[in-house]
Order: sequence, then C-alpha cells, then structure tokens
Amino acid sequence: NLPLSVPITLPNGKIYEQPTGLFINGNFVPSVNKKTTPVIDPSTEQMITKVYKADNDDVNIAVKAAKAAFDNNWSTSDPELRAKVLFKLADLIEQNSETLAAIESMDNGKSLLCSRGDVDLVSKYLRSCGGWADKLYGNVIDTGKEHFAYSVKEPLGVCGQIIPWNFPLLMWSWKIGPALVTGNTVVLKPAETTPLSALFAAQLCKEAGIPDGVVNIIPGSGRVIGEGLCKHPDVKKIAFTGSTATGRTIMKNAADTVKKVTLELGGKSPNIVFADADLDKAVKNIAHGIFFNSGEVCCAGSRVYVQDSVYEEVLEKFQQYTASLKVGNPFDKDTFQGAQTSQKQLEKILGYVKKGEEEGARVVIGGKRRGSKGYFVEPTIFADVKEDMKIVKDEIFGPIVTVSKFSTVDDVVAKANDSQYGLAAGIHTKDVNKAINVSRRIKAGTIWINTYNAFHQSVPFGGFGQSGIGREMGSAALDNYTQVKSIRMAL
Ligand code: NAD
Repeated sequence: NLPLSVPITLPNGKIYEQPTGLFINGNFVPSVNKKTTPVIDPSTEQMITKVYKADNDDVNIAVKAAKAAFDNNWSTSDPELRAKVLFKLADLIEQNSETLAAIESMDNGKSLLCSRGDVDLVSKYLRSCGGWADKLYGNVIDTGKEHFAYSVKEPLGVCGQIIPWNFPLLMWSWKIGPALVTGNTVVLKPAETTPLSALFAAQLCKEAGIPDGVVNIIPGSGRVIGEGLCKHPDVKKIAFTGSTATGRTIMKNAADTVKKVTLELGGKSPNIVFADADLDKAVKNIAHGIFFNSGEVCCAGSRVYVQDSVYEEVLEKFQQYTASLKVGNPFDKDTFQGAQTSQKQLEKILGYVKKGEEEGARVVIGGKRRGSKGYFVEPTIFADVKEDMKIVKDEIFGPIVTVSKFSTVDDVVAKANDSQYGLAAGIHTKDVNKAINVSRRIKAGTIWINTYNAFHQSVPFGGFGQSGIGREMGSAALDNYTQVKSIRMAL
C-alpha cells in the first residue's frame, strides 16, 4: 500500500513531503480501488513517486462532497470569507514558492526560470480573485413604474475542472480562483503526467481555511474520470484546458446534461515582424514566443512571418539568438529550456521535425534530440516553409518554429488568419497605426504588440475559432462561473 505522503528529495537537495492521495472533502485518501500511477521526471526519466489514481467511484465520492459543500454553506458564504481564504492561499503559495517551483520543474521538466514565473503568477492571480469577492454586482433595471426589476449573479454549483500538463500549477489557479470566489465548489483533475503541484497545493487550501469539500483534487485518466466528470449529472460546468480534439469530446460528453462548458484549446499563433520593427527586440520576442516553456504553450508564436526586405537579416539574428539559449538541466541557473514533458511529446515533436524535412522545409538550426537521457529537444527553426505544410498547419507543442516571408499587410493578414485556431498573435513594428490596424484585422483572442507571452492577472485570455470558448482571468473569467437571475416584482 502506498503511504498518503512520501518524502521526496528535490534536485536542489531539499526534502519535502509530497501528498500521494486523492484530496477529497478536506483529506488525502487512497483511491477506492487502491490503484496507483507512476510520476516520471522527464529530465532524468526516473520515477519520482507513485500517486493514487482515481476511478469513477472516486469521482462520485468527490462530486458528492463538492455538492454538499456547495449546498450547505459555500454558495451563500460571506464574500469576506471567500476573499480571506483566497488571500491566505496566495500568501501560502508565496511562502512555498521555491518548493512549488522545484516540484513543477521536476514533474514537468520546465526550467526553474519558467517555474518561478508560473508560481509568481499563481499567487498574483489568486489574490486578484480574492479581490472580486465583494464586487460581484448585479443590475437594477428600469422596466417602468409598475414593476421593480433587478438581476443578481449566482454560482453554478459543482464545477469539473480538467487541466493539462504544460502549466500544472498555473492552470490549477486559473481554474479554482474564479470558481471559488464566485461561490462554486470544484472537483479538479490534473493531467496524468503532472499531478504533484496540484496535490501539494491542495494541502495549502486546507491550511488557508478553505472549508472541506470546496476543493477536491483527483488525479486519474482523462478517458475515465475526465469523461466521468463530463457526464456526471451533479456537475454543472466543465472548465477544460488542453487539446482541441479533447475539447470536442468534452463538449459532446457534456451535452446530455447540458453543462456549461468553457474550453481553452490549442493554437498555431502567428508572430509578425514588419521591416520597420526594432529587429533586435523583435528577434528576442519571436525566440521567447516559441521557445519559452520548451514550446509547450498553447499560445506559442509558432508561425513567424517576416517582411521580405528584412527576411535574411531576421533569420540570421534569430539563428544566432537561438544558438545562445541554454538547453538542459532545468535546475541549472542559466537554463532557458528544460525537457519536454513526456516521451509521448518527445516522439510527437521529433515526428514533426522529420515531417518538415520530408515536406522540403530547411532546418536553420536544431532539429534533433539533445542527449540520450531525458526528453530534451533542440530549439528548431524551419525556414522557407510553404503555407500548406503540416508543420505550418498543425499545433506541434514543442520548440519548433516555422519562418516565412510576406510582402504587404494584406498578404500577412491573410496568412495569419489562415488557421482553424485563433488564440494569439504578435505584431512587431514601430508604426502605431499599422500595429492597431493589423491587430483589428487578425482573428485572435490576444494580440501582443512589440512583446509576446505577456500575461497579467487582469487581462482576459482565451480563443477565437477552434481555440476555445470563454475567457480566463480578469472580470471575464467570473462571467464563466456565474449565472444571472432576474427578479421582477409588481409594485
Ligand atoms: P489532452 O487534451 O488530451 O489532455 C489535457 C487534459 O485532458 C488532461 O488532464 C487529460 O487527462 C484530459 N483528457 C484527455 N482525454 C479526455 C477526455 N476524453 N475527457 C476528459 N478529459 C480528458 O492533451 P494531451 O494528450 O496530454 O496532449 C496532446 C496535445 O494537446 C498536445 O500535443 C498539444 O498540442 C495539446 N495541448 C494543448 C494544451 C493547451 O494549453 N492548449 C495543453 C496540453 C496539450
């Protein structure tokens, strides 16, 4: 039998206690069938620990606990209480930030540089959510002198939350923060490969004073318990981040019980460099736009378009800058890019590199696995690509970028919009009019001008087209966790 917590030595030498059980109704418990699943460190390929793996019996128990917590007190709790526990949770995340960052790098493979940034955003976001607790306003509506009408925003109920492996703790916070502050309770399923930070943070929820049953965390298979959550009649909403293919399945499975569904899905985002841009800054932005977090970013700027007059110059600078990025041990001080998160991802990425070469694209730099132990891939630039190549069309989710030329604004807008996705886009130019005009014409939920991958807890994020439904962060996220009730009274 697996103990409910195990001591783990982090690569930085520090020892911490890692919970391994399901977090249900305020306690860590084994799964009903006692099945476990191994968790692998992608930079060493060694097993870190096992954790209990939930089945649909556990889904039923967790949903029951979440429903009881919703009905009994949380949905009508004082806003001051919800603010207080979210502020406290943000403080606890901050106090444990180094441990959490190290857990994240060990579990996901990302560089400590990335993990520290993630954890910083987590505490900022939870604090921001806490601040909304006493600002969830309804409206008073003028319907004439015979009636008085007003509307209020009410929570939905139990929310099933399914998150991916690329930002395990950050996605955890983007899901539980807005759900909790609006009075919902949650059953959250981390990704199979990266459950550790969500379980560690579950104990911080308890320490923060979040009542039992309000937050439940159950690791397990997407196909089993993910589907179980989508079909459960007492789950009122599914919030999902992950691939577009899984997003479609989730919508179908949630349809029978007409659940509310928000989806944050994939992307193939264009990153555009105009000839009048500050080229050195633009090159840094396009490199960070794709290679940040080992390219495992839904909004990665994976299609770079460079205006023809500066194409060769930008390509040269891009190659040089990429060569300077250190790939390797996530815990080394100057590592920019760590390991890919799993062998499956490694193989998928290398498969796309092969495909690109077969399609006739030119590898400017990279294109290979780095080393033989750990899932490391060289940052890779493909140049002279054609728009119909698979490496230009498909979301690769790795450190692979395509670069091609454009001539005019119309040309690049058409190319940028030629995608099923619409998550984000980058525009690099010193011409303010051009920046604003092009940003209006691009079909994407986020446009970055002379920057990329810049996130803030108050700025909504989400997709156009097949990149998703709904928004996370900012006040927009709260709308996805509340329903409007209208009340009209005869005078
Ligand atoms: P995925 O979409 O299958 O997994 C994401 C989450 O969904 C995981 O928790 C998984 O267990 C769960 N899940 C899987 N099948 C499910 C189902 N039928 N019902 C409910 N939940 C289910 O992603 P993946 O297979 O781990 O990765 C495949 C590709 O997805 C990646 O290569 C990448 O292109 C994309 N991806 C995108 C994001 C993003 O942030 N947009 C994140 C991760 C992966």
